[in-house]
Amino acid sequence: MPELLEVTGLGKSFGGNRAVDGIAFSLAKGELLALIGPNGAGKSTTFNMVNGQLRADTGSIRLDGVELIGRKPRDIWHRGVGRTFQIAETFASLTVVENVQMALLSADAKLYAFWRRAADHRRDDALLLLDQVGMKAQADRPCSVLAYGDVKRVELAIAMANAPKLLLMDEPTAGMAPKERNELMALTRRLVLDRGMAVLFTEHSMDVVFAYADRLIVLARGRLIAEGKPAEIRDHPKVQEVYFGSGKTFEKLKAEVAT
Ligand code: ADP
Ligand code: MG
Repeated sequence: MPELLEVTGLGKSFGGNRAVDGIAFSLAKGELLALIGPNGAGKSTTFNMVNGQLRADTGSIRLDGVELIGRKPRDIWHRGVGRTFQIAETFASLTVVENVQMALLSADAKLYAFWRRAADHRRDDALLLLDQVGMKAQADRPCSVLAYGDVKRVELAIAMANAPKLLLMDEPTAGMAPKERNELMALTRRLVLDRGMAVLFTEHSMDVVFAYADRLIVLARGRLIAEGKPAEIRDHPKVQEVYFGSGKTFEKLKAEVAT
């Protein structure tokens, strides 16, 4: 099967610091790929090169065979690379459905650059997206009053407004309780299946990674040190050593996280 995303030789330095040092990976339609590694490993830098926020120094990033390096973030977004954003303070006063309508309005600009509708823009479509993330019943509440886990669902609906082929989620469950984390990832998994979308995500909770990722890639100091299915990564000695330091294992880490 042809891959949706093909990354080869990708590199980025900040001064003398090789934040990402020639990594290669690919991602297929309908796949949930976790990018893990200790702090400073280069995960966010990798994300920001894929979405165009940062320009890569070396390598290639192809989406459906089209080179993304050198393209503007908005162009890359139009081509189908979405990302989750935290709902900005200024939008917190809008209702849930209004936030999604704003996103739809923005997504439509790719077809009708000169054309804007008023605030009633595609309310039905927005409600459909909210239904998919289980937030339709709260559509007319302001985002500012929502529970944290519900805000995350709305952020996911907003990211879906552009019907991305590839969705990037950098630490989507940060700050969430374990139950909320699992719910958000289960929802993400469902969207991946329903839409044939691909997701690249970073995540600190190993429980979440092992439960939901189809495949993992592991970065350490800018290098890709391992790749495989969760069970393969769990038992990978290099990963356990480089990622956790000697003597630590995923099992021990799990025990620490649980306490
Ligand atoms: P991760 O997301 O895995 O924690 P990052 O991609 O944020 O790692 O960072 C990788 C390395 O690049 C780190 O050493 C970090 O300090 C450095 N870095 C990241 N962004 C910048 C930047 N804008 N300017 C300078 N150094 C940066
Ligand atoms: Mg990061």
